[in-house]
Amino acid sequence: MQEAALRAAGLSGSYRPLETPPERLEERLQEVRRGYVGVNVTIPHKESVLAWLDALSPEAQAVGAVNTIQVRDGKLIGHNTDAPGFIAALEEAGIAYRGKRALVLGAGGAARAVVYALREGGAWVRVHNRSLERARALCRDLGAQLVAEDDLETAVLGCDLLVNATSVGMKDPHSSPLPEGLLPRSAAVVDIVYNPLQTRLLREAARAGLPTLGGVPMLVWQGALAFELWTGLRPNLQVMYRAALGVLEGSAD
Ligand code: NAP
Repeated sequence: MQEAALRAAGLSGSYRPLETPPERLEERLQEVRRGYVGVNVTIPHKESVLAWLDALSPEAQAVGAVNTIQVRDGKLIGHNTDAPGFIAALEEAGIAYRGKRALVLGAGGAARAVVYALREGGAWVRVHNRSLERARALCRDLGAQLVAEDDLETAVLGCDLLVNATSVGMKDPHSSPLPEGLLPRSAAVVDIVYNPLQTRLLREAARAGLPTLGGVPMLVWQGALAFELWTGLRPNLQVMYRAALGVLEGSAD
């Protein structure tokens, strides 16, 4: 997706995985400082990387996680493009969030970005997660309301927007983050998992007549925002969509 965007913009360069075990993170970041315009950061470094950076964007600071590093004048600047990428995806799909009751499932790095983005966008946000303590910490840090196991059904039935930000359903078309048979009465259902393109949650929501959105638009938008930070140029979104879908459609599990 990033290489397709580089070619479409007439830029040379490449986007490659840099396998980095935790004990090599500091050394890797020195390489990045010397030889790169930027990198993305993924599991398991999104939070631990903060300690090695020279500056943070307001979003990265508030979310407490970095998915994009920009190298500027030899300094490493941490950003979180998952948060604005998620909102851009909702807006592109015409899914309303301002003033709405959102229920976010999950409390990992991606859930933190989604909750921050929805709160900033004026939604009323509740959070449910398998590990209650992690959800409690997220709610405390970002001003959301905790939903315990006993209240999950009521929270699901009554929300206007349901977001799966857990990894349940990733490379697993048979698992859903919701208990069997439970779906919102009339909410839009967003699953940020992008592989498979149609998760079980999305298939069931669509069958119940609910509007749905998968994870590819957020993936493309967070990548497009990172591209802009690295190059100063707006990438061609259609080119990025085509490249991402080309890979994901070919890797259906
Ligand atoms: P993470 O930090 O590892 O968090 C994983 C979350 O999933 C936690 O809330 C975890 O709950 C929950 N979970 C995992 N297995 C579970 C299970 N069997 N039952 C119930 N809950 C379970 O990962 P992340 O970075 O937040 O990413 C989460 C997902 O979002 C991944 O699938 C990732 O690919 C996707 N993502 C998509 C985009 C996009 O652009 N579309 C961007 C970022 C991430 P516990 O706290 O209880 O362990």
